[in-house]
Formats: sequence, C-alpha cells, structure tokens
Amino acid sequence: MNKQNQTQPTPMMAQYLQIKSEFKEGLLFYRMGDFYELFFEDAILASEALDITLTKRGTHNEKPIPMAGVPVHSHEVYLNRLIKKGFKVAIVEQTEDPAEAKKRGYKSVVNREIVRIITPGTLTEENLLEARSNNYLAALCKIKADLALAWLDISTGVFKAQKINENQMEAALSRLSPKEILLPDDWLNASHPHHFITNSENASFTPLPKAQFHFKNAEIRLKSLWNVGSLQSYGDFSEAEIVAAGILIHYVDITQKGNLPRITPIQQVKTGQFLEIDASTRRNLELTQTLNGHRKGSLLWLIDRTQTSVGARLLDEYLAMPLCDIQAINHRLDAIEYFINHSEIRDEIIENLRTATDIERALARLSSSRGGPRDLRSIAQALWTSCQLREILHHKSLPLALYEADEDLGSFGTLFALLDDAIVEEPPLLIRDGNAIKEGYSHELDNLRRLRDDSRQLLAQMQEKYIKQTGITSLKIKHNNLLGYYVEVPSKQAQNIPQKPEGIFIHRQTMANAIRYLTDELVELEGQIAKASEQALLMETDIFDQLTSKILDQSSLLEKVATAIARFDVFSSLSILSQEKSWTRPTLNETTDLEIHAARHPVVENALQKIGREKFIANDCYLAEKSRIWLLTGPNMAGKSTYLRQNALIIIMAQIGCYIPADSAKIGIVDRLFSRVGAADDLARGQSTFMVEMVETATILNQATKRSLVILDEIGRGTATFDGLSIAWSVVEHLHEVNQCRALFATHYHELTQLEKQLDHLSCWSLKVREWQNEVIFLHEVGRGTADRSYGIHVGRLAGLPNIVIERAQQVLDTLEGHRQKIVIDDLSALPLFADIEKSLSSAAPCSHKALEYIETVDPDNFTPKEALDALYELKRLSQEE
Ligand code: ATP
Repeated sequence: MNKQNQTQPTPMMAQYLQIKSEFKEGLLFYRMGDFYELFFEDAILASEALDITLTKRGTHNEKPIPMAGVPVHSHEVYLNRLIKKGFKVAIVEQTEDPAEAKKRGYKSVVNREIVRIITPGTLTEENLLEARSNNYLAALCKIKADLALAWLDISTGVFKAQKINENQMEAALSRLSPKEILLPDDWLNASHPHHFITNSENASFTPLPKAQFHFKNAEIRLKSLWNVGSLQSYGDFSEAEIVAAGILIHYVDITQKGNLPRITPIQQVKTGQFLEIDASTRRNLELTQTLNGHRKGSLLWLIDRTQTSVGARLLDEYLAMPLCDIQAINHRLDAIEYFINHSEIRDEIIENLRTATDIERALARLSSSRGGPRDLRSIAQALWTSCQLREILHHKSLPLALYEADEDLGSFGTLFALLDDAIVEEPPLLIRDGNAIKEGYSHELDNLRRLRDDSRQLLAQMQEKYIKQTGITSLKIKHNNLLGYYVEVPSKQAQNIPQKPEGIFIHRQTMANAIRYLTDELVELEGQIAKASEQALLMETDIFDQLTSKILDQSSLLEKVATAIARFDVFSSLSILSQEKSWTRPTLNETTDLEIHAARHPVVENALQKIGREKFIANDCYLAEKSRIWLLTGPNMAGKSTYLRQNALIIIMAQIGCYIPADSAKIGIVDRLFSRVGAADDLARGQSTFMVEMVETATILNQATKRSLVILDEIGRGTATFDGLSIAWSVVEHLHEVNQCRALFATHYHELTQLEKQLDHLSCWSLKVREWQNEVIFLHEVGRGTADRSYGIHVGRLAGLPNIVIERAQQVLDTLEGHRQKIVIDDLSALPLFADIEKSLSSAAPCSHKALEYIETVDPDNFTPKEALDALYELKRLSQEE
C-alpha cells in the first residue's frame, strides 16, 4: 500500500469526519449496526467518562483510530452518565436503507445524519430526567441596559421570561437551578462585566455567537411558534426578554433538528410578584438540599408528601417562588384548610392520585414525535384519575383554588375510553416493537394478526409433516436473519433427507453438527408471514398516529389536567402533613410587622422527634415598628442559628401558602429575604471565607428594603476581633437607620448590646441557660435581655479539648475579658451618631443624580470609541449641571 492510500480515509471514515466537523462541541454517537461507536478524541473522552473499553479500528494518517462503543439497546444508561458529567451528545443514525445505498455502488456508505443533539437542558426521555424536578434550559441576555432571563422546560412545555437587574441575576438562577444556560459568547471573556455568572455551580454553560441574540429574528421566531401577529397578548415584554426567549427556541430547534415539542405560550414573570431569596440564602436555609448537597434533611424533603411527579414538580416550583400576593396565598391556604376539614374527601383523592401518571412529560414526548405506546397508556391512566377526582368532587362546594382545579380536570371520559380500548395494559416502549394495540380495537388489525399467527401454526404443522416424511424426529424448522426460515437436521441423520431433484429439500448450509435446507413451500410461507407481520405493524403505527394526533389536538386542555392533578396533589399532601405535625394557618397582612407565637424549626423538630430524646422548645418572635431589630446573644450551642433560620423558614412556608410550625402567626408580607449565616469559602471565585461574608453583607445593606427580612448570624467573626466587632456594630446601625427593615441579628459580641440604648427600634434578646453544679444546661428559650457569657470554653470541653487547653483558655479569658469590656464601653458610647456620618459623607461627595441616571441607560459593551468619548463629555456636562 503506498503512502497516498494510507492517508486517504475510508469512505465510512470520510463520512464520519464530515459529520464530526459539523459538531465539535460534544461527542458523536455514530450508529453502526447494534452499536453507537465513538472515534478519535470522542472515544478517549467517553472511555474515561464511562469506564468502557477503548479499542482501535483501522488507521487515519498512519495512526490507529481510537474507538469505543455502547450498545444501542442500553445506550440511555451511558447517555445519562455523560449528560450528568456535562457532555453534549449528537446521535447519528442511518437515514436510508442499506439496499438503497447499494444501488449507488457496491462500496457506497449508507447515508447518516445527526438526528438529535442531546444536552443537559434539552432532555425529554423518561430515563434521563428526574421525575420530581423541572429540567430548565435558561437564556440570559442584555440589550442596551436591559437584562433578561428566559427559561423553558421542553419536557413539560413550561416557558417563562423575566426582566431582571444585575443584582437579581444570581438569585434568579439559583431559584430555577437550570441544567443549561445559554449566553452570548463574549460573556465568557474574563473582562466581561457578567463573566462572574459563568462560575455558578451545577449548570452547564453554552455560549452562542453574540450575533444570534438578535431582536427581530427572535420576535419572528416566537410569533411563528404560536402563529400570532403580535406577542402583546402574552405580556408587555422588553426587547431583552424577547431575545432571551427567542434564543431558547432557536437552540431547541437546532438540538431537536426541527422537531420542536409543544411549548406553552410564554408567561411573563414580574419582579415583585415573588418573595426574592438570593442564592446564598437559599443554600444556607437548605430549602431544596442540605449544605452537603443531599435532598434528605432539606425543607423540600420534609414537606414533599406528593403522590405524583407533576405534584412534586409543582411543590418544587412553589418553594422556588413564594408569593407576595396575599389573596393568592390565601387561596392556597383555603385549599389546605378545606382538605383538613374534609379528610374523607381528601383521603379518597389521595387514593386515586397514587395511580396517576406523568401526563405532562408524556404529552411533551408525543408532541416531539418521540413518544411511544407507554405515553398513550400514561395519558389514559391520568385521564382515569381525572374522571375519578371529578366524581369525588361532584356537587361539593369548594374553595376557589380547588374549584378552578376541578374545572380544569375537564371531562375526558370519551378520550379515556378510546385510549383504554386501544392500548394494551402493559404496552411496549416503542410502537415498532408491536402488540401495543388491544385485540378487538380494529377488525382489520385482528385479521392481519390472525394471518400472521396462523402462519406460525402452519409452520408447526409443516415441521410435523417433514418429520413424518423423513422419519427424523429431531428435525426442526428454525429462523435466522441470513437464511430466514429453514429446516435443520443433525448431520448424522442427513442421509435420510430426500434432496432435489427427486425430493423437496434444497441444501443451504453445512454446520459442524447440523445441515440446513430450504423447501419451496417454506419460502412461500415465509413470504406470507413477513407480509402479514409487516402489515400488522403498519396498521398499529397508523392507529398509534391517529390516537396521538387526537391527543395533541387537545394538548392545551390536557396540560390543564396535568396542572389540576398537581394542585390536588400538593394541597392534599400539605393538609395531611399540617395535621400530622400540628401546623397552623398563618395570617398574612400588608404591615411590616411579624408576630409568630410558639414557633419551631420544622426540620430540627422532626429530627428531635425521630431521636425521641429531647423536645423542641418553641419560641416567639415579634418584630414591629417599636422593635424592628432583635439583637440576639447567647452561649454557643444555645440555639441562636436554629432560631434565626426557623423564622426565615416560617416566612417562606407562609408565603408559598403552606401551614407553619407555630401556634399562630401574623406575617406582614416580606418582599426579600436575606441571610448571612454559616460560612464557606468560594475558592472557585477566588474569595476567602471572610470575603464571602463581606460580599453577602454588602448585598444585604445595598438591597434590603423596609419590607425585607434580614437574618444575620455572627457577622464579623472571620477576622480580628476588633475589626469584626466594628463591622458588626456599623452593620446593625445601617440596618436600623438606612434599610429600616426587620432583622434578627445573632452575635457573640456582647458589646453590641449597648446599641439598645442608642437605637430606638432595636431590642436585645438572649437564649437562656442555667448553670447547675458546674454544668451548663441549655434551655433553648428566647427571652428579653442579654447574655453575659458565651460559654465557648464549656462547649470546647464538651467537644473533648484536652483539659490543659481548657484550663489555660480559662486563664486567658479571665484576663482578657475585663480589659476589652472597659475599652468598648468607654469609647463606643462617645462615638458620633450614625446619621451624622451619613450626612457628612453625602456632603463630602455630592453625587449627581442626573449623571447616575445617565450611566444607567448606557451600554458600554456596545460603544464605539467615538460614542465612549461622547458619553464621557455628557457625564461631565451633567455633573456640572447639579
Ligand atoms: P453557636 O453559637 O455555637 O453557633 P447556636 O446558638 O447557633 O450555637 P444552634 O446551632 O442553633 O446553636 O443549636 C445547637 C443545637 O441545639 C441544635 O443542633 C439543636 O439540636 C439544639 N436546639 C437548638 N434550638 C433548639 C430548641 N429550640 N429546642 C431544642 N433543641 C434546640
């Protein structure tokens, strides 16, 4: 072989390289027979990620080609692992019959194409999705000064957009936890102002050319998606929202190769509709997962008793977006209360929900031509549930949320009957597997099947006949892909076979121990069988398609059924939980007060109950104008963090419309919840523990409004004592004077308690302990007043610090304490008032409002040098104007 030949790829490899050149951003699953093969670098990456064997196949440019493969029948398992590791995978299938290819020449390669690109945000397969949570694909973009986020779950069709500002970006993403985020490619540059976002955990980022973030194209795309002339009826969208939404559709179109699934009309989410919770607060309060990353132990884990996946996803969404609208919250609470008061109805509903299926995802699969007979059965099953629920609720006087859900269940008795008559109870995954349609549904299909099955009986009769004719009892009629049906006899008895021309048997193959023959009548029968099977399958596919289009005709109504089932599930399950845990209904109001009586931490209480040793001690919390800020002191281990968190959790629970672990509560709606609790490095972003603490504190001080609730746990502990104390001191003053929000502030800096004398709306509270026989007993009770000691050394002893260390620590503490107290008391009381500093700062640096407003409107990213210079002159002019 000469060198020229060696560098020429084989026709198949040439085809592979051509397809690979169209998809460089991920792995190519190249279909070859019963395997998806990977080559070159893809093979190396996949073999490492999947722990599969790396082999070689031929050479390219004189080097062996690395190859790895996964079987087609089990490829989803491997796909799942690759997607979880952040890979994108393109599936390449044969798109023509090998016979067609042969017509082009003996050596021609069967045509292959990418039929789909699978990415973390574009999954629809049941096996690849988590049933109980949404799988969002999100897009971020900025047009001029406007920033927007849009998100879409193609496995359910949910599609939303929101205008956000810079400060809300991280919070909005952490609320959604999207699996994949699309953004303009220039955001990846380290110098880009939004580059920081690409360091978010969990999501995979897909940069797209900046030019694709184009308003006109996005608008056209969205209009044609729903076939409308204007998007106005869906909401008053900003350009940025439309571009973000449009890019999602564009991406889905590319990855699904034009097979767009059903996508519901876009909903606009408005800032202010929801209680905003920033990313670190969400994490620290362990709303959906614990700090260790487990679902068990989180609030969602505790409150999720739903029976269905649609219900679980709805509850997840409720928790992600607690409401600010009192009426809407009360509708949810009314529904729970109804179920508490009508437990017999509720129990019957729950009984029926147990068998409900995931109609939402089945619909999405059917609409993207990726559905199968199981999806039809699943829809039938959900419709059965909906009929049952309607019957249970017939003539009942229901609160609004349940009444609306009941209406949405609609009346699908006829569609249910149709599907139930058509689809077998346990259908195969794919329609091409056959036997998905029930006997009796179509006479024509039954006839074809009879023909097919009768032929099988004829085969058995033929075998009997040949045994009699030849006297060979071990003669068998068998089948394989190469020969089709054939007669097989053991070699030793082959001499008894009467072959053509006198006999009927035609020799085809000699094996080690057996000889294989054909007969004319066997060939003819085979033809009949194949034809009947093929026709039956075609008929089944036809019926499947008809049923699917009947379902898709009603998809928006069926979507409502899914949401209605989800609501019944959420409300009924929360009512059970509330009763079991003796939770109560909160009262929501428009004030900025908070009055919670005998509250408990839901997760800690649950844990203590399980252990059965200690009872959780309930505590009150009253934040009102007179005392907006509670300064909480108390020993280590007394329960300060637990207390802070329980109040935050109770607000979240109340605003999602859930009962709460307290004897009673009156809650003035909270617009934003901030927390600074716990401490963790953010090494990925190059931030130390203390830096993270300061960044989070800065966010709070810059953003908390009068309606917000702030919980701060031990601010300033990550630095030198005096630095920490000074920061904590001024943070409390800022919250009190500037933010004027409600706040719970726990600290070990007992010096801070002096602020009670200076700040009118601050009061001191502490967690009580009792000293008894040299031991400290934690009472976990919050009461008025201040703690005089932290008992840190006592906790150190409990934790097993060596005695010598404890003794020495006590000596050092005794010496230090006296001095420190004295300095602080003498010096701090003499400081000027916080308000005076504020005044002097503002007079020292007059800030031009017009100039600031102007800066808000410009987009430096899109400046030409000339525009940049003009902007500078404009700024100078405006600042001189004031
Ligand atoms: P530190 O200052 O050391 O951080 P802390 O005052 O914040 O301590 P927590 O971490 O809130 O203390 O509580 C310590 C433990 O006390 C908790 O793990 C919990 O088991 C128990 N505990 C807290 N509050 C209560 C309560 N109200 N009733 C019963 N047990 C409680």
